[in-house]
Amino acid sequence: MPAAAEQLCLACGLCCNGALYDHAKVTDEERDRLAGAGIVGTDPAGLSLPCSAYRGGACQVYADRPSACRTFRCRLLRALDDGDVPLATALETVAKAKQLLRRGAEAGADLSTLAARQRIRRAGPDGGQQEAAAKARAARIYVEAVAVGLFLERHLRNDKDAREEPAVQPSA
Ligand code: SF4
Ligand code: SF4
Repeated sequence: MPAAAEQLCLACGLCCNGALYDHAKVTDEERDRLAGAGIVGTDPAGLSLPCSAYRGGACQVYADRPSACRTFRCRLLRALDDGDVPLATALETVAKAKQLLRRGAEAGADLSTLAARQRIRRAGPDGGQQEAAAKARAARIYVEAVAVGLFLERHLRNDKDAREEPAVQPSA
């Protein structure tokens, strides 16, 4: 991997921590191998994200990571590789994404994973709440969830036409 790409991915990790996708594809052979390391369960959709091997900001099974992880390149990484975005800008984009992912915490909500945001969006703008203050809080969280999703779709996810779907890493 080129040095700039490595620097970007080491600062990012959003394709490992569940922010972008719910699952990564694994082959049967990889499933068996990683199951021995306690990384892949029985989920037929593949490797569940957030990945339990992503700790301390790095992949703990890097040498044995699935082929999908080896080949995956998000929109931002491809833009960097193609020379369309300089490293400094790409790093700023990752920092901005992480800032948005943390924003729900101020409102007492977790926006950090795709699954969490999908739950919020399914509940709707009022979150199914009846009382005015709870409705207002749910509305704020909903707006934040939509904003995070749009940012990630625009800058990082590869499925540009999807709205927080699909949840499985597409091929790069
Ligand atoms: S989301 Fe993109 S930039 Fe971030 S670690 Fe994955 S491939 Fe690298
Ligand atoms: S196996 Fe490693 S590279 Fe693949 S999702 Fe998990 S932490 Fe990321």
